[in-house]
Amino acid sequence: TEHWQGKRVTVAGLGISGIPAAKVLHGLGAHVTVVNDGDDERSRAQAAELEALGITVRLGDGATLPQGTELIVTTPGWQPDKPLFTAAAEAGVEIWGDVELAWRLRGPDAADWLAITGTNGKTTTVRMLAAILEAAGLRTAAVGNIGVSLLDAVLGEERYDVLAVELSSYQLHWAPSLRAHSAAVLNLAPDHIDWHGSMAAYAADKGRIYEGNTVACVYNAADPATEDLVREADVAEGCRAIGFTLGTPGPSQLGVVEGILVDRAFVENRQKQAQELAEVADVEPPAPHNIANALAAAALARAYGVPPAAVRDGLRAFRPDPHRIEKIAEVDGVGYVDDSKATNTHAAEASLAAYDPIVWIAGGLAKGASFDELAAKSAPRLRGAVLMGADRELIREALARHAPEVPVVDLDRTDTGAMSAAVREAARLARPGDTVLLAPACASMDMFVNYNKRGEAFADAVRALAAERA
Ligand code: ADP
Repeated sequence: TEHWQGKRVTVAGLGISGIPAAKVLHGLGAHVTVVNDGDDERSRAQAAELEALGITVRLGDGATLPQGTELIVTTPGWQPDKPLFTAAAEAGVEIWGDVELAWRLRGPDAADWLAITGTNGKTTTVRMLAAILEAAGLRTAAVGNIGVSLLDAVLGEERYDVLAVELSSYQLHWAPSLRAHSAAVLNLAPDHIDWHGSMAAYAADKGRIYEGNTVACVYNAADPATEDLVREADVAEGCRAIGFTLGTPGPSQLGVVEGILVDRAFVENRQKQAQELAEVADVEPPAPHNIANALAAAALARAYGVPPAAVRDGLRAFRPDPHRIEKIAEVDGVGYVDDSKATNTHAAEASLAAYDPIVWIAGGLAKGASFDELAAKSAPRLRGAVLMGADRELIREALARHAPEVPVVDLDRTDTGAMSAAVREAARLARPGDTVLLAPACASMDMFVNYNKRGEAFADAVRALAAERA
């Protein structure tokens, strides 16, 4: 605390990471100023709350570096090319994100971090890992986007042995001194390129997760870019590169043999070639991308010394979060699955690969994506498609190019009620044994507040349909 007393810290951004950071720093005795771009009703209320504690807040001015700033703690989402950061760089002021702050504030007997990043599957894998660690009797938590916040995990009353930590590329960008016990990059596909400036910069920020790992850097053997990041990382002596694959694993890999998840990297019994961990059927849903998530979680747990039986028990105990390939109902022999969280094409590709035949409900905000690859890969599985949302035209054109025989219903709507119309159209196209899959491949904000609301609208429409047909 001595080190913080009177230190002039600027917190960039109100909101879910800025407000707790400002409070914690203020509590440590720092002289905190919060700067925020917006000056609306909500930020004024938040500012009033902080000002009551004695924290200075400047609304409507996120660009100017307050006089005497010694450190900036930024909301991870703030883009690195902002004028505030340029000014900080010129003044030689360090910039930390929320992860860096939590890392620096952790205590001497702090929990180890098992860290996970990737373009898709982070939340799912972090929760699987926490379930496994829990099954092993460890004091643990899923930390990040969901579950416990990082600052709470590090500074709260609760003691942990080990944390399963989800990290975004933004957070990694602003976390220069983080050193995880072990870490995994699940996959790498173009996303958030505008923020990072280029695909190379995005990958480099993701790769930061491996820096200084002590036991294992876990990579995806089917995604060579993740292995490249391991090779480029500066790790502790003896730290191993561990791959995961949906096929037969090589040495130092985890993989799948005849429906069994096996580990060839951490084998205790020298007589044995491989250690059996769990069955594919233990993983819910048993879709290929989700088996990959389970293998990545298992790899990190095994690196931490978790026995095989706990991997199996943890995976069996795991239940997926809502809106992530969530089966809603079966109506007239047709399955209805909500993957509203598939907000980009890479994610949608994963759920489209898990079912056959599919009536696909898609559309929303494309964020500059191209749908050609997705349409071409999914074409053989599509019974039909129902499109809605602002950028539906892009998907319709891609389907026309790569799947001209697939019937497409263009709802030509962007209102919230379109979801119920979409479910009805999909039900009309589907035959018994088919799956109606909401996997929008787009963000939701053109029609809904967020992907949760979009998924709920889908589930409501499916339940209404089920009630009618019952
Ligand atoms: P994140 O936290 O990275 O956004 P989630 O676990 O919330 O990831 O999953 C988001 C969506 O990404 C899921 O709904 C699913 O469609 C897809 N997904 C999950 N795991 C993977 C994976 N390993 N590869 C590709 N897509 C995936």
